[in-house]
Amino acid sequence: MANQPILPPAMLGILGGGQLGRMFTVAAKTMGYRVTVLDPDANAPAADFADVHLCAAYNDQAALKTLAESCAAVTTEFENVNADSMRWLAQHVPVSPSGDCVAVAQDRILEKSWIRKAGLATAPYLALETVEDLNHDLTPYLPGILKTARLGYDGKGQVRVSTAAEARAAYADLGGQACVLEKMLPLVCEVSAIVARTNTHEVAVFPLAENRHAKGILDISIVPAQVTPALAAKAQQMAVQLAEALDYVGVLTVEFFVLDGDELVLNEIAPRPHNSGHYTIDACLTSQYEQQVRAMCGLYPGKVDLLSPVVMVNLLGDVWKDDGGEPNWSVLMQAPNAHLHLYGKREARPGRKMGHYCVLADSAEAALAQAEAIKDTF
Ligand code: ATP
Ligand code: MG
Repeated sequence: MANQPILPPAMLGILGGGQLGRMFTVAAKTMGYRVTVLDPDANAPAADFADVHLCAAYNDQAALKTLAESCAAVTTEFENVNADSMRWLAQHVPVSPSGDCVAVAQDRILEKSWIRKAGLATAPYLALETVEDLNHDLTPYLPGILKTARLGYDGKGQVRVSTAAEARAAYADLGGQACVLEKMLPLVCEVSAIVARTNTHEVAVFPLAENRHAKGILDISIVPAQVTPALAAKAQQMAVQLAEALDYVGVLTVEFFVLDGDELVLNEIAPRPHNSGHYTIDACLTSQYEQQVRAMCGLYPGKVDLLSPVVMVNLLGDVWKDDGGEPNWSVLMQAPNAHLHLYGKREARPGRKMGHYCVLADSAEAALAQAEAIKDTF
C-alpha cells in the first residue's frame, strides 16, 4: 500500500470536524475526494461539507469500524484524539500521521525529549512526572511556566511562576498531574513552519509565519515572517529535521521561539495543519489542507510558493455582539484584497475561534496596517 497513490473519488476519513477538519474537507471535496468526518458534535463545522458525518465519540468502536471499512485513508485534525484509536485504525487502513507521532504531540514530556533526540533546542525544562520531581533544584527554570504535560491548548493548563514555592503551589493546584516547568525566555518573536512529508519521504515546507498572540490565543500571523532570510531558512530546515527524526507522514506544524541573536528554540509541535497556516488557502499555490490530502493519499506535496505577502487575523467570539448579533462585515467584504472565512459555528463565545480573515498586499507592513484597520470596523 505504501506507494500506490489514492486517487479521487476515494473516501477519506478525518477524526475531528472542527474548523481544521472543515477546511480539510473543503480541500478534499474540491479535489474530487469524498469525506467522512467522525465528530461527536452534531453541529461540527466540517459536517456542512462532508459526505458522511459519523456523530460518535472518538473511541466508538462501531464508528471506527465504519471509518476503517469505508475509507481509503484516515487523518486527524487534532492531537488529543485517542492515539490508540489511530493505532487500531492503522491495522485496517493507512493512517497519517501515525498514532505514535500523535502520541508524541499529546505529551509535552515526550515531545520535548523527541525534539532533543532530533538534535534541536528546547527551552530549559524540567519534567515533573511525580511530586518527587519537585525536590530538584528548580532555580534553573525560574521564572518559568508550569505547563500540564497533556491536554493544553491556547495557553490553557499553564501557570506562570516566579519562585519554587509558587511552582509547588501551582503544581498542586493543577491536581498533581504530570507537568513540565519551563524557563521563561525573552522572546523577540514567535514563528511557525509547516511541513508536509509523504510516505516516500518527499517534503515541502511552507514559508515561515510570524505569530502574535493575545491572551494566550493566536491573534495574527504575518507572512513572510519579519525575520532574516537566514533565520527563516534555518527554522524550515529544523522543522524538516524533526519530521525526519519522527519519520513523520502528513502535515506537521513546528512552533519556534526566536531569541536575541537569531537563536531559535523549538516550542512545540502540532501533528496537523495549524491556525498559523490558514493563510496558505489564500496566499500559497497549495494550501496546508490540500497538502494534508496529498500527504495522506501518497501524492507528491504541492508547491508552496507564496503568491503575496499576507496577514491572517483570527476572529474570536469576542467580536460578536452581546446579543449574538453578527459583526459588521461590510468594510472587510468590500475590500478586494481581503478574504473572510467563517467556520459556521452557531454560538459565539469569548475566546472561541469563529473564523479568520486574510489581507494580501504588496508588503507585509501594508497588509498588517490594513488588517488592523479592518479590525476596528466590526
Ligand atoms: P497553542 O495551543 O496556542 O499553541 P499552548 O497552550 O500549547 O498554545 P504554548 O505554545 O506552550 O501553549 O504557549 C503559549 C504561548 O505562551 C506561547 O506561544 C508563548 O507566547 C508563551 N510561552 C510559552 N512558553 C514560553 C516560554 N518558555 N517563554 C516565554 N514565553 C512562553
Ligand atoms: Mg503553542
